[in-house]
Amino acid sequence: MPQSTYNNRPSPFLKTSEEEWNSWIWQHQNRLKKESDFDWIDLSAEEKQGFENLGDFRVAVTPHYAALFEEGNPECPLRKQALPHIAESSIESYELADPLAEESHMPVPGITHRYPDRVLFYVSHHCPVYCRHCTRKRKVSDPLSAASSMQIEGSLKYIRETKSVRDVLLSGGDPLTLSDEKLEAILSALRKIEHVEVIRLGTRNPVTLPQRITENLADILKRYGPIYVHTHFNHVNEISPESRLALTRLRNAGTVLGNQMVLLKGINDSVESVMELNRELLKNGCRPYYMLQCDFAQGISHFRTPLQKGIDIIDALRGRIGGMGIPDFVVDLPGGGGKIELVPDYIQSREGNHIVFRNFQGQSFPYVDVD
Ligand SMILES: *Cc1c(COP(=O)(O)O)cnc(C)c1O
Ligand code: SF4
Repeated sequence: MPQSTYNNRPSPFLKTSEEEWNSWIWQHQNRLKKESDFDWIDLSAEEKQGFENLGDFRVAVTPHYAALFEEGNPECPLRKQALPHIAESSIESYELADPLAEESHMPVPGITHRYPDRVLFYVSHHCPVYCRHCTRKRKVSDPLSAASSMQIEGSLKYIRETKSVRDVLLSGGDPLTLSDEKLEAILSALRKIEHVEVIRLGTRNPVTLPQRITENLADILKRYGPIYVHTHFNHVNEISPESRLALTRLRNAGTVLGNQMVLLKGINDSVESVMELNRELLKNGCRPYYMLQCDFAQGISHFRTPLQKGIDIIDALRGRIGGMGIPDFVVDLPGGGGKIELVPDYIQSREGNHIVFRNFQGQSFPYVDVD
């Protein structure tokens, strides 16, 4: 048996059986939500104030994810992603409720269609853990905004009638909060649409609720494959034994794994942190896809890093880890401008056709370009 977070379960769960712990339904039903649920942690004054000043964006933490917290460390990179903080109440003037203008690019409720060939398809507004840095905190966790079956039908109809859509990204919230049956119905409907060539699924369940990746779910994904699965690991400590098993199951089901990490101040904003995470992801067959700049969602300025930080991390990775371990560093432009990739400047000088490049060791190399 591989090690399990069961062995490290928080004190409220000492009487929990291993069977319960390994059930995703049990994990979901026993999420920690209230301030008093965290009595076993010595909450910091800032975290307590975070609970007291909580807005509409609720708190939920799976026992599994809580078991990964570093004991007694308020700076724990996982704890900081999951527990509210008083800093969430500070909203900067440039921050936006809908930072990526997803609502204004909605041809029908539940679909954001920005690029000609691909759409975001919101199928659920729930997640096992509500990440404090969530870009969709305006609606995620709100029970009233959950996608109804009628809305899902409407979205499918839009995709069916819009021939330019070749790539559909199931999103939310987290699509894996749906039941297997509902998810299968959506996948099956999408596969029947001839012009839909690529199906992707964005999910943080392999991180926060890896027990959700059951054999049955893997079979479904296999049946409608290939499915591209975008995971959301931000820190190496999130890769638990259960996560490894989940990633193995997803791989064996023929899904193509790519990770979208968010660069977060004080959590993963160092070369070492990103490199450790990416090496561990590659070991588990998951390729770093994007490293996203924290967007302009409201109340997350305490997580935001300067743009140069991301560029410097990419620069330092080059040469220290193979290209497969280097994600694209991407800024999703506020106001719905789309994604922009930022890259380090490798050109030291340029005179006509004569260019001097800088390599990963900082050495200069001349190059002659053609006309
Ligand atoms: C990020 C995003 C996509 C997917 O973009 P890729 O760069 O292809 O991964 C599609 N639509 C919207 C609105 C997005 O924000
Ligand atoms: S899993 Fe994604 S959608 Fe859900 S709270 Fe975290 S960032 Fe937001």
